[in-house]
Amino acid sequence: MPVEPPIETPRSLGEAYAALSESTAEAQITPIAGGTDLMVRITGEIGAPPERLIDLWRLDDLRGIAVDGPAISLGALTTYMDIRRSAACREHLPILVEAAATIGAAQIQNRGTLGGNIANASPAGDTLPVLLALDAEIVVGSARGERSIAAADFWTTYRQTALAPDELILRVRIPLAGDREAHFRKIGTRRAQAISKVVLALAWGDGGPSTRWRDVRLALGSVADRPIRAPRTEAVLEGSAPTPEAADAAAEALAAEINPIDDVRSSADYRRTVAARVVHRIVRDAGGW
Ligand SMILES: Cc1cc2nc3c(=O)[nH]c(=O)nc-3n(C[C@H](O)[C@H](O)[C@H](O)COP(=O)(O)OP(=O)(O)OC[C@H]3O[C@@H](n4cnc5c(N)ncnc54)[C@H](O)[C@@H]3O)c2cc1C
Repeated sequence: MPVEPPIETPRSLGEAYAALSESTAEAQITPIAGGTDLMVRITGEIGAPPERLIDLWRLDDLRGIAVDGPAISLGALTTYMDIRRSAACREHLPILVEAAATIGAAQIQNRGTLGGNIANASPAGDTLPVLLALDAEIVVGSARGERSIAAADFWTTYRQTALAPDELILRVRIPLAGDREAHFRKIGTRRAQAISKVVLALAWGDGGPSTRWRDVRLALGSVADRPIRAPRTEAVLEGSAPTPEAADAAAEALAAEINPIDDVRSSADYRRTVAARVVHRIVRDAGGW
């Protein structure tokens, strides 16, 4: 029988930081938020189980969604249901609302958090391409203070992040951009409770169907060891209008740029082909042809 790890329940961020300051790479204290990823690991059947847990659920400092100057800020404990119900997210981040609605089903959306998705660092984490495409910053903290990490620098290799063992994710800041268009697409086996075969977010500064795109960001999940941007395909679309030629060139560039793997969920060929077709379709829809 697996032994349940001891769990601490700090009442303030200071208490949480104090507990986590004893955490090292060798003897980790593991934060638990919604537990939807962590509880799956608790039996030890899929890798080493956590040895000591620290429960974040009562830390109200990690909650809340607010427009904060030129950005929107979402606390690490923001659940998918919070995102779906938030008027600020529906107004400013419809792409994140759309992504949240595809995650798990109602139980997971009520309990799973944005901070947990980020820290869990699955290459298939559905919010992660959205955060990359929107130039999000992950604000983290410890007893040593706070720092901001660009989403582009956060996931360092397979399931590894730039977080130190004593650091918590506090919130995510996403810059607001008035004329930004952003599109999300998840391809899974079914409409709910599906792990992505390919998940993709494409964002650009937009002046209408015939104007040239700028600040293009294309991010994907489930096609590499971590969520990635596709800079060569972005460069093809940067400065282009959404024409049939641009769509063809972007699809070709993306198929050449990504190098997905075959696994139980999908083949590399399928992932490459589908990712390219999805980008083609988004450009086509934007061009209205
Ligand atoms: C049935 C099922 C369906 C799912 N469907 C999807 C899906 O469609 N798409 C998808 O992307 N995911 C899915 N998931 C995975 C999971 O629900 C999400 O990744 C969720 O966002 C995890 O959040 P959590 O709060 O439950 O994290 P937890 O399980 O509490 O923690 C996950 C990891 O993050 C760390 N952590 C959590 N919060 C913090 C913090 N603030 N600071 C530092 N570290 C932290 C924990 O230590 C742990 O390593 C599914 C899971 C299940 C069980």
